[in-house]
Amino acid sequence: MSDCLFCKIVQKEVPSEIIYEDDQVIAFKDISPVAPVHVLIVPKKHIPDLTSVEPEDANLMGHIVMTAKNLAIKLGVDESGFRLINNCKQHGGQVIYHIHFHLIGGRQLSNKC
Ligand code: 5GP
Ligand code: ZN
Repeated sequence: MSDCLFCKIVQKEVPSEIIYEDDQVIAFKDISPVAPVHVLIVPKKHIPDLTSVEPEDANLMGHIVMTAKNLAIKLGVDESGFRLINNCKQHGGQVIYHIHFHLIGGRQLSNKC
């Protein structure tokens, strides 16, 4: 998707602070962090949102979860804990319509939605 910001980050057309990359995913620091650790885990495949995930994407979604676990260890929040969040569509507060997961930690998070 040529008009998609996260596709442009995947293609390195837009710079970002990349902390992990492989053939399926990229992870980079959120430009507006809400906690000491705030990383976005993004599949390289353009999937607009969670409702667009198909059965063929199941392995990719599993890979994202494993990436989140490994990054939590790498970033030192595996013991203290963290959140892995997907915002879906309007009520979920989604702004960028290329599916992504926020890995947030490094401080106590509130229980409020
Ligand atoms: P959403 O609400 O779609 O789940 O979250 C989008 C996230 O992308 C926000 O947390 C926002 O700060 C982040 N973001 C938006 N534009 C950029 C950018 O150009 N670079 C980076 N690294 N993060 C961005
Ligand atoms: Zn995209």
